[in-house]
Amino acid sequence: MNARVLIDGPSELVFDYAIPAGLNVLPGCRVRIPLRRKSATGTVLSVIVPEQADFALRELESLIDPEPLITPVLLRTADWIAHYYASSIESVIRSVLPEGVRSEENSAKTRRVAILDAAPDPAALAKLEKRAPRQFAILSLLAAAADLRMAVAYLGEGNAAALKSMEKAGLLRLEAEEVRRDPEADNQEEFIESKPLVLNPGQATALESVLQAVANPASSKPILLLGVTGSGKTEVYLQAAQRALDLGKTVLVLVPEISLTPQTVRRFKSRFAAMRDQVAVLHSNLSQGERFDEWHRIRKGTARIVIGARSAVFAPLPDLGLILVDEEHENTYKQENVPRYHGRDVAVLRAAFEPCAIVLGSATPSLESWHNTETGKYELLRLNERADGASMPLVRVVDMRLEQTKHKGGVAILSDKLRTALEQRLEKGEQSILFLNRRGFARSLQCPTCGHVCQCPHCAVALTYHRTDERLVCHVCGHQAIVPRKCPECKSPAIILQGYGTQKVEEVLAKVLPKAKFARIDADAMRRKNALRDTLSAFKSHKIDILIGTQMIAKGLHFPNVTLVGILNADLGLHVPDFRAGERTFQLITQVAGRAGRGDLEGEVIVQTFTPHSPSIQYARKHDFDGFSEQEMEFRRQFSFPPYAHCAVLTSRSTHERRAEFTLQTLHLRLAENLPNGITLGEVLSSPLIRSHGQFRFQITLRSHRARPLTNHVQQILAKTSLPEDVTVVFDMDALNFS
Ligand code: ADP
Ligand code: ZN
Ligand code: ZN
Repeated sequence: MNARVLIDGPSELVFDYAIPAGLNVLPGCRVRIPLRRKSATGTVLSVIVPEQADFALRELESLIDPEPLITPVLLRTADWIAHYYASSIESVIRSVLPEGVRSEENSAKTRRVAILDAAPDPAALAKLEKRAPRQFAILSLLAAAADLRMAVAYLGEGNAAALKSMEKAGLLRLEAEEVRRDPEADNQEEFIESKPLVLNPGQATALESVLQAVANPASSKPILLLGVTGSGKTEVYLQAAQRALDLGKTVLVLVPEISLTPQTVRRFKSRFAAMRDQVAVLHSNLSQGERFDEWHRIRKGTARIVIGARSAVFAPLPDLGLILVDEEHENTYKQENVPRYHGRDVAVLRAAFEPCAIVLGSATPSLESWHNTETGKYELLRLNERADGASMPLVRVVDMRLEQTKHKGGVAILSDKLRTALEQRLEKGEQSILFLNRRGFARSLQCPTCGHVCQCPHCAVALTYHRTDERLVCHVCGHQAIVPRKCPECKSPAIILQGYGTQKVEEVLAKVLPKAKFARIDADAMRRKNALRDTLSAFKSHKIDILIGTQMIAKGLHFPNVTLVGILNADLGLHVPDFRAGERTFQLITQVAGRAGRGDLEGEVIVQTFTPHSPSIQYARKHDFDGFSEQEMEFRRQFSFPPYAHCAVLTSRSTHERRAEFTLQTLHLRLAENLPNGITLGEVLSSPLIRSHGQFRFQITLRSHRARPLTNHVQQILAKTSLPEDVTVVFDMDALNFS
């Protein structure tokens, strides 16, 4: 047996070593190995049975710890990920054990401390004063310290000899003590402890079911908690977490992205303020040392509540009692590089392996999770009303085709209705949010006169405009059409490519509302460190009247003084070449609308669209998830899209356009041979984002009712095909991103 070892150090070397007889080596074990003429340390990524013994292979020296760093459950989870997403176990172990945790250099930081076991006798101390003034000074300092201990560094540099002789004389003890590198050390935010609220009947019923699952995890299903925005899901999470902790268990909270879900993190920290040291927050901005310390605090059971984004699903919590996945529908749970796992799905699996209770929460669940409640795999719990008695905001839809006629030439940006509404809020001293959906570069063709969008007749997704060859292409099946000169529906020659940015909106606002103070939140404006936090706090303290932003402001924000939310171009997300376009638009409008009227004041939402009758917009207007999902599921079933089938994308990338294309065509030919039953193989197409980072990209979409045969088939073909060195091929199972 051989071990594939990732060597500690910045160069990320991987070598195979023979495992000496009698040594029990598992993936995740820390090992000592020979490297050139020295000895080095590393982490075992995988254990392989070689096809033939390689006698030249060097042997491992020893195991550093007898146990692997990875728990058996996480090892099993890692194995599942490697198979399901067709990634190497090596890449998965790297994610499960991030570099900061693996590397020897980050090992715990220690300092020397001097300790008194008991307060010194005052009489004896007084005697020392004349005889040994230095010892007297040290003992007095120690005696005054709160827990009779003090870092040697604080006792003064020149005291080393004195301390040694005092230790010998039994006057004090010297010890090495671990110092925690606390990522929150300079966080000034105060967390005032929040008390549990009295639950309303809906919340109480939901909590009861969750508690049952916490008590009997082995016999319970994953729970989908569908609660409208503001229905008090978080309070249910908090009380369920409290119970798990009371039972001596630990809790894992996954959020879509730490920086975009400050509210959730703050509310957990406030509820568990009394046990603040037991809350660990994992995010991408931790230093290697901080990550190391947090990870080991979690593993030892010192930190019993972990809040983190996607990769926190691998947090090594012992005795896990409950996993909470907040906003489970969010795309950010899917990792967009290898291994391309979905954090929510991995969490569900981990919960089954542990076993522990798991709750997926959302106001707009993914249709995948929804489908699982329909088939009985998940249990469905609902909260249909806002918890604090507020009513759902009124949503008005503005038909931009009518507005367009007033704007000869350019595209209408601000409708009269929205402008008037903004003016009213300014007069009343209330705040507004303007939301601009700016997704993708792939452009669809839409008629501003009648709203018609050119769609694929076979797949019912919008066709993508390819500028280079002046064609419309379907990105699912490859169907092509010529670009019409006139709208096929109403014959208007005004058919245009949609699109304008946040900066343009700012310009228009400055003109029509010269007195308003506004700020923009998007990736460009938020480059500066803390820019997002600063802008949000300025908005909170009403230094800003109108906040303009992209997807970044759709999540988790809670501003009681916001009474108006405007969605400028609800269409943009709707006509991208993606069968999930309707679902995303529904989610987005519902979530953004949820930002309005969260205080005592009533909220209003204005949605501007060129296709006011589209189901995503109409159902979102009525806050009707059931209506939306019913019609959307019918469309998915009819065209065999997820959740009725798995959909994967195989992409090739290269700086050489022809080679990228040719490689994928070769793979396509091989995939087509002996294609297992039930798998649909799409054509080789240029990606909607044909060129990115200087690389040309081509893709094939595959669909199958069952996941395993699809992954196995692709994996087999990939293993048999040798790729040109300058072409990268990526397989994305259950892909969410088709660009
Ligand atoms: P969600 O997470 O479902 O969007 P929140 O948890 O943010 O909803 O709850 C919305 C508001 O309702 C919050 O201000 C919260 O404090 C309040 N709330 C939640 N539960 C109750 C309750 N049982 N009684 C009174 N107010 C509640
Ligand atoms: Zn038209
Ligand atoms: Zn098509």
